[in-house]
Amino acid sequence: MKTRRRMCLAPKGEDPACDGLAIRAHTVPRQECLSKIAEDGHVLTPTFDLGKSLSKQSLDFDMRKVGVRNASTFTGFCAKHDAEIFKSVDTGPFAGSHEECALLLYRATAWEYYAKLHAEVVADTASSFDKGKSLAHQIGLQSTTSAYKAGVQAAILDGRNRMDELERMMLARDFSDIRSLVIEFEQVPSIVAAAVFEPDFCLSGERIQQIGDLSKPLMPLGISLVTYGDKSYFVFSWTQGADAIVRKFVDEYASVDPARLATALTVLLFETTENIYANPQWWTQLSDETKAKLLERARSGAEPGKLTPATHLQFEGEEYGPWTFKRMYWVGC
Ligand SMILES: [Zn+2]
Repeated sequence: MKTRRRMCLAPKGEDPACDGLAIRAHTVPRQECLSKIAEDGHVLTPTFDLGKSLSKQSLDFDMRKVGVRNASTFTGFCAKHDAEIFKSVDTGPFAGSHEECALLLYRATAWEYYAKLHAEVVADTASSFDKGKSLAHQIGLQSTTSAYKAGVQAAILDGRNRMDELERMMLARDFSDIRSLVIEFEQVPSIVAAAVFEPDFCLSGERIQQIGDLSKPLMPLGISLVTYGDKSYFVFSWTQGADAIVRKFVDEYASVDPARLATALTVLLFETTENIYANPQWWTQLSDETKAKLLERARSGAEPGKLTPATHLQFEGEEYGPWTFKRMYWVGC
């Protein structure tokens, strides 16, 4: 079996300083974001237990402790590129520029692409658990190995095209095709996260694209929850090419009652990604019922072969946060 790939995904050009060997690069900024919500250098992240999952024939999720040094990392960029490309979003402050929004989208896209490349490597093995959630979701309706492989290959092609599009913007330093909605809160949040996913149903339950249809590329949406100083920012980012599909999805979040946004966004994150890192104290003080509810959201979103209910992003009776809403603004829209 081939081993996990370790190569720098950055656009190379003629850069002799890139040796191609990737380090453990963070998808969520370490110093500004992960360290700030950590306790004793640790955060909590939703993780499934492979042993329990196999014996129960169902994914078994719990929140596991992870050190900030290892949280959210993937071996996707060399040290030089990781430091250079993402400097502005790694150090803050966050100004909500086209470029910052593009960088958040690019890093999450690179992580997703990397997960797909890794999924191709493991496609021959019995375990189909170790893959990005977004990928599991995308090909979740197919259960045989050959269909799985076809799904992975289509997803890799999509991923490469998404990387190419963002790299063209970065090399030309032209971010005018980036669209974003930035939602600013008055304090450090209880969780930080970064992901790219393909939305299928809007908050209202309306379908905007068909997951599992390999005949056309699925349109991606980046979501990041980051914190700088004593403020936090939930950033939706997408490209002009995806606007016709994903704009409606984002519009519905822009219309949520600001007092309920922390709840809506927490639910969205647990439903769509495992790349979430929680403040341990926040998690510990939640009721057992609330913990079970969030873990069930993480589990059902990741379960291969399971149909997503149209209303899975709705949050009646749930309350997270509170983070105090400050303002929201559109970038490039
Ligand atoms: Zn490099």
